[in-house]
Amino acid sequence: MKKVVIVGSGTAGLIAAAMIKTYWKDEVDVSLYYDKSKGNISVGESTTPYIHAFLSFFGISEKDIIRDLDVTIKLGINFKNWIPNTEYFHGFGRVSNPGKQDDSSATYSILNDLYDGGFLYNEATNKVPTHIFDNFSHALHLDTKQFTDYIYEKLKGRINLVDDVVERVRVNPECNKIVNIECRDSGIVDGDIFIDASGFSAVLFKHLNPSWNDMSNYLPIDRAIPQQIPYKFDELPSYTLAEATENGWIWKIPIGDRYGTGYLYSSRFTSDNEAREKYNEWLVENFNTELSSDRIIKYKPGYYEDYWIGNCLAVGLSSGFIEPLESTGIHIIIKQIYDFIFFNSTLKNLEFNRKSANIINRDLYTDIINFVCLHYNTNRTDSEFWKHLTSNKLEWVKDVEEKCKEEFIDVTLFRNNPQRSLWTLDSYIQVAQGLNMLSKEGIRNHLDSKTDGNGTFFSGKDILKATEELYEYGKNEKNNHIFVSHKKIIDSIHK
Ligand SMILES: Cc1cc2nc3c(=O)[nH]c(=O)nc-3n(C[C@H](O)[C@H](O)[C@H](O)COP(=O)(O)OP(=O)(O)OC[C@H]3O[C@@H](n4cnc5c(N)ncnc54)[C@H](O)[C@@H]3O)c2cc1C
Repeated sequence: MKKVVIVGSGTAGLIAAAMIKTYWKDEVDVSLYYDKSKGNISVGESTTPYIHAFLSFFGISEKDIIRDLDVTIKLGINFKNWIPNTEYFHGFGRVSNPGKQDDSSATYSILNDLYDGGFLYNEATNKVPTHIFDNFSHALHLDTKQFTDYIYEKLKGRINLVDDVVERVRVNPECNKIVNIECRDSGIVDGDIFIDASGFSAVLFKHLNPSWNDMSNYLPIDRAIPQQIPYKFDELPSYTLAEATENGWIWKIPIGDRYGTGYLYSSRFTSDNEAREKYNEWLVENFNTELSSDRIIKYKPGYYEDYWIGNCLAVGLSSGFIEPLESTGIHIIIKQIYDFIFFNSTLKNLEFNRKSANIINRDLYTDIINFVCLHYNTNRTDSEFWKHLTSNKLEWVKDVEEKCKEEFIDVTLFRNNPQRSLWTLDSYIQVAQGLNMLSKEGIRNHLDSKTDGNGTFFSGKDILKATEELYEYGKNEKNNHIFVSHKKIIDSIHK
């Protein structure tokens, strides 16, 4: 039996424990140490559809979680004021005509001014969610405390859960592996595999000399002020709001009988006091309420080059963090553990497997950073913050911008491997269109030169007709796309 030692009982530590114990069962003895007095970060409530991979891995049905917790349905993200006084929607549903699995619908829609991004298309091929959504591309909004308590309860009796503080870490410098950790009450704890899920402090991983990839030039946001706001919903918005401001952006997530909100900003361009004032103005304007928390979360945007060194795996915030614009924190955790299990299924901890998993983790971060940076391609210059972002674009973003002028977004965007991105083409098209990056001339060039994704030539006339029908359908259904009656969902579960 291998001994797995996990440090941290935040979302990362608990997801790691749940997946590892579920997969290896009696082959592993799992102990999880956490510092209750320190608590968890207590943000991170908007997810990607990948949350379902964890739920089904651990044996939780969507029905259970909606019934037991304050969980709401997320169909996408509403981006407001990224270009001032405009908004767009990045939805999870496909932006293509029924039966067409390529970019052609969007191509024709945009060319004919019939495109409204995820607002219109998200549900055109799906149904308004009034039942359990097995066939529906969606994510969840979760109350983070409820969610972690829920997993914790399910792990009781299956793993050792110990409230104790890790005070010392012993490393063998010859092989850069952890020998043991020392806890305040439990003393020395040995292990074969150590999982560092201790959040930004990376209490284990930092002893292994990990190399850090700093992203602060491209994504300078490094602080957040969170606040929850009680709210009575009739119908719930089925999306997370990301509203840009002069110096950052604000998130708004509907959960149960409250909104989770928070202001993200860069300490290089705004002082904490100024940020608090701006956020307070927003709270008063939107909710007629004042900022009541003095909490400020500070972090360094970036990630560790390797997340698996020797016998230690950094998971969640201890492996890195960039701003949660596409709500990818929990997604990263699930993927990190999934890959660890996949590459280490024999529990031999081999160098080859470690290298492979590290490459995949780097690709994941690169992919997320690219996509998040794309959202900043606004060409805004109305504050020092926006000037900085406009004059410090990632090479990849500059290349995509140029491509969009001359061509269209197609599979070549994914560095020859369509499996390499967390998002589909639809997502890139929605964001690029929302930021006015697409040109009709470019689309015409694209259409003149392309076959469809299946390698067959498509009939533009047929697609245009289907596009128009879809557009009419979407116009009539529009409000249903964005608001969900949570009561109907709950009722359907209790039936
Ligand atoms: C502002 C902000 C907004 C975010 N929004 C989203 C979002 O919308 N969607 C999303 O998916 N992700 C989001 N994230 C990321 C998400 O919050 C995290 O990925 C997730 O909560 C996991 O955190 P964690 O478990 O790694 O760390 P934490 O929650 O910080 O947990 C760390 C744990 O380590 C323990 N610990 C620390 N030191 C010791 C020690 N010495 N001994 C013993 N135990 C110790 C603590 O007690 C705690 O249990 C956001 C993050 C931030 C900062």
